[in-house]
Amino acid sequence: MGVKMKETIERLKRCLGDTSLKIAIIPHISADGDAAGACSALWQVCDRLGVQARLLTCDYFPDYLKWLPRVPDAISFQNRPRECKEWLREARLLCMLDHNTFAREGDLEFFTRNFRGEVLMIDHHPDPEEVTYRFSDTRVSSTCELLYTLITRIWGKQMIDAGIANALYAGISTDTGGLSHNSSRPRTYRVVADLLALGLEKEYVHDQLYQRNSLSRLRLEGHCLLNKMTIEEPYPLAIIPVALQELEAFNFKDGDLEGVVNLPLTIEKVLVSVQITERKERVKLSFRSKGEIPVNLWAKRFFGGGGHRNAAGGQLTVPLEECVRRVRESAAWFFSEHVDARHLHF
Ligand code: 5GP
Ligand code: MN
Repeated sequence: MGVKMKETIERLKRCLGDTSLKIAIIPHISADGDAAGACSALWQVCDRLGVQARLLTCDYFPDYLKWLPRVPDAISFQNRPRECKEWLREARLLCMLDHNTFAREGDLEFFTRNFRGEVLMIDHHPDPEEVTYRFSDTRVSSTCELLYTLITRIWGKQMIDAGIANALYAGISTDTGGLSHNSSRPRTYRVVADLLALGLEKEYVHDQLYQRNSLSRLRLEGHCLLNKMTIEEPYPLAIIPVALQELEAFNFKDGDLEGVVNLPLTIEKVLVSVQITERKERVKLSFRSKGEIPVNLWAKRFFGGGGHRNAAGGQLTVPLEECVRRVRESAAWFFSEHVDARHLHF
């Protein structure tokens, strides 16, 4: 641990030791298991410390993450904007979890950028913005793994109880596809082993995360694979465009398409998968790849987004068909610039 890191931890410990402190915890837009798990764990830590926290979201947490302690208590800017703004005025510490820039806070961005107190970022995406306390490491599996390290460095393992362990494990599990990718460092397993020793209810967490499909969600997944997925020969690329009307036909709820973009990668020859989903105000793109292929560069260059090498996202405010056309057109650029020629065929 560098001197700067040690000093940052000391300062943060002092800051969180003040029980008159009010803090705001914020996940990224379209929160996933890692963002929600980290927010849940941090708020539970605040509860144990007697520090007043609020969880503020620019949209809504999906139903499949509502079992996480404190997540149902989140305040959404969409239906309670006044309370969000008020808390951001009163709070002295803003904690941004699982994102590297205020730009991923949707409609809250304007208010968080103008936040007057100190800002803590805990994250694992490349190129993080400058903030007061920054804990950012792209090598970790997840924000939750990093948060575990931070919590235990500051307060020791005794701070972690079953509720916190469950939330941290939810983030580690969802961000690694159940410990399949981004999880080849021994440290990740040491953290999981510690969490088990500290009360993690692993089977319960698995049931909550992976065994609560609705029939319509499973049917939507089938529809995507059977009727929507195309292989973009000659490239080893699968795309899945889905229109708003189709989502509505399958009674879509936030989170229902979670993980679908990974499925084409289970085909041996498919190296890149892109999900293109029409939402009310924008078209959302999700990129996934195998091995060294940096889909974040594709998302950044053409789709106003970014992310990790193997999992990235972006969005456009153009019609779905136009968005699909741009993916097809820019595929030629991406595969010739960033993919080894050996892989340039399906
Ligand atoms: P997902 O496909 O699950 O929405 O996103 C995968 C990853 O891509 C996220 O973990 C996040 O790092 C990144 N990501 C998704 N959307 C955006 C975006 O609009 N901008 C940036 N910079 N990153 C994104
Ligand atoms: Mn994450």
